[in-house]
Amino acid sequence: MQENDLNLLYQETILDHYKNPRGKKAVAECDHCKNGFNPLCGDKVEVALKLGSGTVEDATVNSTGCAISVASGSMMAELIPGKKIEEVEELAQAFFDMMQGKDFPEELDYGDLDTLEGVRKFHSRVKCATLAWKTLQEIINEWKEKNS
Ligand code: ZN
Repeated sequence: MQENDLNLLYQETILDHYKNPRGKKAVAECDHCKNGFNPLCGDKVEVALKLGSGTVEDATVNSTGCAISVASGSMMAELIPGKKIEEVEELAQAFFDMMQGKDFPEELDYGDLDTLEGVRKFHSRVKCATLAWKTLQEIINEWKEKNS
């Protein structure tokens, strides 16, 4: 594929997540939830996890903001249900590393996240892409404190 075609495909994937975000739903009860805010862009995210014995059973992600932030949260909601918390942390770290210029490890199930690779060229937008994931990491850190 030509690089331009690939960019177009990536843009379409990001726009699809933006227009139809996965994991968007009302939060009834919230044992493990946090709000995130990116003041540089005005992006907001609410992340609520249903956790059972070390596994993410369900993930709610409600975003308002730019296409990059909404799409990244949507991809997160698609990827993390059913995964163990350690696996989710590993994925989050791999995503942060990718935003710093590294490649995803080949064996990792990173879904559509590679389509956000172009964002890392724009330093100010990296915070848009990582907002939902940083919020997720905060929830996991609190969970680990309580369960250690
Ligand atoms: Zn943004």
